Amino acid sequence: MLDYIVVGLGLSGIALSNQLEGRKRSFVVFEDDSQTSTKVAGGIYNPVILKRFTLAWEADKQINYSIPFYQKLEEKLNEKLIRPFNIYRRFHSVEEQNNWFEAADNFRLSPFLNTQLIRQVNDSIPGDFSFGKVEKTGALDTELLVESYKKYLEKRQILKNKRFDYSKLKINKDSVSYDGLEARHIVFCEGYGVVNNPYFNYLPLRGNKGEYLVIKSEELQLKQAVKSSIFILPLGKDLYKVGATYNHQDKTQQPTLAAKEKLQADLDKVINCKYEIVDQVAGIRPATSDRRPLAGNHPEHQRLFICNGFGSRGVLIAPLISEKLLNFIEDEIPLPPEVDIRRFQKKFYKS
Ligand SMILES: Cc1cc2nc3c(=O)[nH]c(=O)nc-3n(C[C@H](O)[C@H](O)[C@H](O)COP(=O)(O)OP(=O)(O)OC[C@H]3O[C@@H](n4cnc5c(N)ncnc54)[C@H](O)[C@@H]3O)c2cc1C
Repeated sequence: MLDYIVVGLGLSGIALSNQLEGRKRSFVVFEDDSQTSTKVAGGIYNPVILKRFTLAWEADKQINYSIPFYQKLEEKLNEKLIRPFNIYRRFHSVEEQNNWFEAADNFRLSPFLNTQLIRQVNDSIPGDFSFGKVEKTGALDTELLVESYKKYLEKRQILKNKRFDYSKLKINKDSVSYDGLEARHIVFCEGYGVVNNPYFNYLPLRGNKGEYLVIKSEELQLKQAVKSSIFILPLGKDLYKVGATYNHQDKTQQPTLAAKEKLQADLDKVINCKYEIVDQVAGIRPATSDRRPLAGNHPEHQRLFICNGFGSRGVLIAPLISEKLLNFIEDEIPLPPEVDIRRFQKKFYKS
């Protein structure tokens, strides 16, 4: 008898698996490479919403928990996963500059917003207004994390590189059975793939497709991230991620010409140096109708759980929510109401 079956190995499944290991629980993970959100993500951790200069939901608490969590993962996997850098927010008006100062007065935002404005951050990025510096930010190399965590689980022979077939799941009184396995709990961490899950697809998870261009430019020489109409995110070796787009309609995972043209047009308005496009990636963010995660227990099946709905902020949210979910499952500590899927119970009984 296993303690857990985990379905999905994106940021959610990795955070949960790592928590399970910390608690010395036995588990296996199913992963079929059907979703790409974690792999293509910019991986940025930044508690500030850069449109309005407000704090993202609980982001100061999340950053204090998540960064040490990933640092421990770095040690365990023997990989460099975190790249700290500042984010320079380009202002487009004096009003925006004033709003920045007002926001920096807020005690929860002040640790992140530097009040010394910077006139120019890079020769290839001209502009009429200054830049505000966001501190204590950076990026998690999500692609490397997935790759190295997979290898880690493979070595321990607890990764099933295949699709979890929902029709084969049997729900018993005190356990679930699946294809010769038996476990006390199953946690679904499928990202947007949850739309195929007959137990949880009543939840209002709306995919939001995002695309990035990867460009190469020897001239740009940018070491920090810049946020203007788009993000320019340095990857090293003269490579940069540029994006991302937001699209509620298209639910395919393939890169599109429309996104490429839009990103290229936006980029041309921000930088004035030569570059070439070397790649384009796309994925579907697991966004929810109320912009809060989806965690908790199935309304009728006590052994079935979900950990999903991280939208565009999975890096910061995943570690803390996975811990709260396990506290709920194992120690009966209630989940915060704003993340608990019980808020959608009516939808389940209507569906
Ligand atoms: C373009 C883009 C840029 C982004 N940038 C950032 C950023 O800078 N910072 C940030 O914090 N977040 C960012 N995000 C959001 C972030 O990627 C997500 O919040 C996060 O990765 C979601 O993780 P997840 O594990 O819930 O879902 P996913 O990453 O979708 O993982 C789910 C996993 O489950 C697997 N799966 C699904 N169904 C099955 C099944 N039946 N059987 C087996 N396996 C299955 C899938 O293959 C997948 O690997 C970005 C997203 C996109 C698309």
